[in-house]
Amino acid sequence: MAAGLELASLHDSLESPVSESMNFLNEVSHRYPDAISFAAGRPFEGFFDLDGIHHYLETYRRHLMDRYGGDEAAVSRTILQYGRTKGIIHDLIAAHLRVDENITVDPESIVVTVGCQEALYLTLRALRRNDRDVLLSVMPSYVGVHGAAQLVDMPILPVRESGDGIDLDDLVSVVERAKASGLRPRACYVVPDFANPSGTRLSLESRKRMLRIAAEHDFLILEDNPYGLLGDPSGPPTIKSLDGAGQVVYLGSFAKTGIPGARVGYAVADRLVRGPHGGTESLADQLAKIKSMLTVNTSPIAQAVIGGKLLENDHSLRAANTLEIETYRSNLRQMLDGLGSRFGGDGSARVSWNTPAGGFFLLLTVPFAAEDDLLEVCAQRHQVLWTPLHHFYADSTPRNVMRLSFSHLLPHEIEEGLDRLAGFIREQSQD
Ligand code: PMP
Repeated sequence: MAAGLELASLHDSLESPVSESMNFLNEVSHRYPDAISFAAGRPFEGFFDLDGIHHYLETYRRHLMDRYGGDEAAVSRTILQYGRTKGIIHDLIAAHLRVDENITVDPESIVVTVGCQEALYLTLRALRRNDRDVLLSVMPSYVGVHGAAQLVDMPILPVRESGDGIDLDDLVSVVERAKASGLRPRACYVVPDFANPSGTRLSLESRKRMLRIAAEHDFLILEDNPYGLLGDPSGPPTIKSLDGAGQVVYLGSFAKTGIPGARVGYAVADRLVRGPHGGTESLADQLAKIKSMLTVNTSPIAQAVIGGKLLENDHSLRAANTLEIETYRSNLRQMLDGLGSRFGGDGSARVSWNTPAGGFFLLLTVPFAAEDDLLEVCAQRHQVLWTPLHHFYADSTPRNVMRLSFSHLLPHEIEEGLDRLAGFIREQSQD
């Protein structure tokens, strides 16, 4: 038999706990198909509409027919041929950002990507020039940012979390220490609205201060915002809408508000980039160069479907998601009430949880280390799943915290799931 490859001879990221995280969690849910899952952070499927796809595609086709004065060959080419690297629905995305987020950007500064995850990868790839370049991120953080950073060999310097998201005093100290030791912090990754995993929301004051810190210390803010539209419209504005200098790269996803299976996301990257001879291009143009060597272009068919959904809703995904928004809010209320009625009365505070104002997630603190082996025990004996928090630190150190996701569940599943979880926690607390 031919000798195999040594894992140690392949890219470092393949040996990291992050690359095991998704496999492990998917594998557990496959082995316990009847378990109620507070682990999967997926959109609600109750409003999925397969026929809607044809409808959206037709709407976008008619839109192109108008644009191309009835030239059917040009319309077919746009949807069926290899396409523009930066995408074909950038104008509709710019309109959506104006309507829903009060963000005004030149459509040319938008790169349409294969999900937000590709946008994150492209941005980090562009920013990581050499060993001095590092990323800043609050810990715990979305698994995908750990994964993308590892793929481009970019270390993450952890910043402390605070009640509303990120501890900005700690951010300043981390940046100053990094610079003093010769490192170059290129960007700070943040999910200001209903973060994954912690559900926190950054205050307006913190958003403004973060922008000032980034400008003063010359790093970019990577604002990842898949959940913001699902919250209260009177909440704080996006950091991007406060940014007049291209300091913020805004990472968008249509997975939670459009159609997850379309795999369409985008980056808004309007920071100017100076060339060696004094000419300028945008950061978006640099991301497009990398994209042209990675995924070439985002499927125009998938973009057309998302484009049709935007057109049919006057560019507003808030309007397109009124039923989904109500479902997510009501699930969150039910979770908080359900935790209160099961764990609230004993006064011992051995089980506690945070109270996000929206999004898909909350954190539950329990009196034991909520680690992978216990998840397995819980799945087997109690048929309920959750995510151990260490996955969001990209390490294997057990912590007493679980991430609970409630976005895709029906009310009776939430009740039953919380009963099962309470049974498990009672059992573990007696051990
Ligand atoms: N950012 C965050 C914070 C997420 O939670 C997710 C998905 N769970 C993504 C990005 C990925 O988005 P997409 O599916 O568009 O790649």
